[in-house]
Formats: sequence, structure tokens, C-alpha cells
Amino acid sequence: MEIRYPAYYDTFRCLAGACPDSCCKEWAVAIDPEAEAKYRALPGELGEALRAAMCEEDGDTILALTPNRRCPMWRQDGLCRIQGQLGEEWLCNTCRQFPRLRHDYGNFVELGLELSCPEAARLILSGARQDILTRQGVGGEAPEYAPEDMAILLATRQQALEILANPKYSLGEALAILLLLGYSAQSVLDGEDAEVFDPDQALATANKLAATGDAAALLALYSELEILTADWKAQLASPLGSSWLDAHRAMARYFVERYWLQAISDLDLVCRVKFILASCLVVKLLGGDILVSAQRYSKEIENDAANVDALLDAAYTHPAMADIRLLGLLLED
Ligand code: SF4
Repeated sequence: MEIRYPAYYDTFRCLAGACPDSCCKEWAVAIDPEAEAKYRALPGELGEALRAAMCEEDGDTILALTPNRRCPMWRQDGLCRIQGQLGEEWLCNTCRQFPRLRHDYGNFVELGLELSCPEAARLILSGARQDILTRQGVGGEAPEYAPEDMAILLATRQQALEILANPKYSLGEALAILLLLGYSAQSVLDGEDAEVFDPDQALATANKLAATGDAAALLALYSELEILTADWKAQLASPLGSSWLDAHRAMARYFVERYWLQAISDLDLVCRVKFILASCLVVKLLGGDILVSAQRYSKEIENDAANVDALLDAAYTHPAMADIRLLGLLLED
């Protein structure tokens, strides 16, 4: 089975105590059953501390955060007590894997890194070493989807990446074209005949469709979602704004690579394309240090399934995510 991954994937190294954020705070980590059994049987002071911290939440066993919203296993030097005393093999799956992503599509696997980790964000947004490498791996269940649907998604994602990489288009223009490409691909997924997609024609259409964008309404939509940190709330309330940067283009590529193929689960590509556009727009609207804004966006949105689901729904129902409003924001400068 082929495993695909960006070249930067293997260069990732956790910053541990030097991390400017840390995945060991604010998140209550769900512990997998195998790790839970090991922790429940572990003798000594560390075992007692683990058992004292474990509790049930929404059907999962979690490690409850301390009053200062840190993981109870976090040490003052930024390292993890479990890893330090017992080794990495004692970590639960979530902690062992983060920030590594694995999307298993049955007959191939795609690996990536999560933008919510500051060091992964640095690698992703630098735009360097984004070429896709492959290696062979074992395993993989037979795909449960129709191969022709995956072929449509793979081909159109490649088109989307080429449009994003084309310097002839500003990033706003490229993203506007992607919305039209998404609708074009959706019609083929829905059973229509495929037609040649012309990006220049799509851009002309997008310019005709675009209405005045409503940045405040889009940020208000995000303010209504689940919010993890006070910093995020404050940033949504006081956006600084930005022009499109090369780092935004690298971020757009990350979102396309991560979400386009996920439409195979329900054959709904348009809502995912609109989620990609809204994500790029919100990080641009927030402005400030893009490394901080993009990483914080990912931590608050991508790592909260309820928030992602809410935005996928809002793609069809919320006025701020209407096609003409998104196009207006994308094409306004
Ligand atoms: S957020 Fe990333 S760099 Fe920071 S501690 Fe976690 S894995 Fe390491």
C-alpha cells in the first residue's frame, strides 16, 4: 500500500520545553483503552497520580486538567512525566501521535502534520519541502467508496493545488476559482457529465457573482462556536487584518491537501471547499503574526470536531458563508 506524505513530515521534531504553546495545556486528552489499562495497573507514585487524574467525560476516559489548565502529567521543564519516567511507548495514542495526521483511504494512506502545533505550523507555513513523497507500507482495509468518486476527488484536488500554485492568480483569486472548481467537481460526483474546467473563465464568473463581503459577519459566526482560550476570543473581537502573504498560500495548500479528499465520506465537496475558503479568510482577517493566528485557528477549530461540523453546516445555511459573500471577501483586494 502506498503511503504519501509531504517532505517536511519527517523533519518534524517536538520543541518540548521550548514550545511557545504546548499540546499539554487546555486540551483534556482522551485516553485509549489500552493505555488506560496500563495506567490503572501501574504501581508507585506515578500510577497513583494517573489514577487520581483520570475521569469520565462524554463516554471517554480523560486526564482532567489542573486548575491552571495544564495536563496533570506536565512538568515545569515542559516535558511529560509519563514519557520521562517510562518512555514514549507508555504514552496514550493521542499524545504519541500528535501532531501527526493519518488519513487511511483503504488502498492508500496520506500522512501530514497538524497546523495546531507551533513547530508543525512553522514547517507548513514556510512553504518549503511541500513536495509529496511516497513509501510502501503494510495494511489497509478494502476501500468502501466507489473508485471513480475517489478518482474525481484526486484529479480535482490536483487541479486545485495547481491553481493555488499559479503566480498568475492572487491568492484571493485562486481561492475564488477553487469555489467554482468545487461546484464543477460536485456536479460530476452527483452524476453529471464532466466538462473541461477553465480557471480564467471561472474567475470571470466569480467576479460577476461576488457581492460585498461581510468580514464582521464571518468573524461573528466564529465567535458563536466553542471557544477554548481567552486569546482566541480576544483576537476574534479585535481583528488586525492582513494582506495575502506567501504563508497564507502555503496554509491554503495545507487545507486543500487535508480536506478535499475527505468528501469521499459523504460525497459533499462544496461544504469542504467553503470551509477551506472561510479558514483562509479568517486567518487573513485576524492578521497579526500569521504563525500564531494560523496555529491558534487550527487549535480552536480543526481540533474541535463540533466546530468543524458546525462550519460544514454553516456553509449551506449561514449568510456569512453564502457564495457571493465569500467571493466578495476573496476578491475585494
Ligand atoms: S505543540 Fe508541538 S512542539 Fe509543542 S509540545 Fe506539542 S508536539 Fe511539541
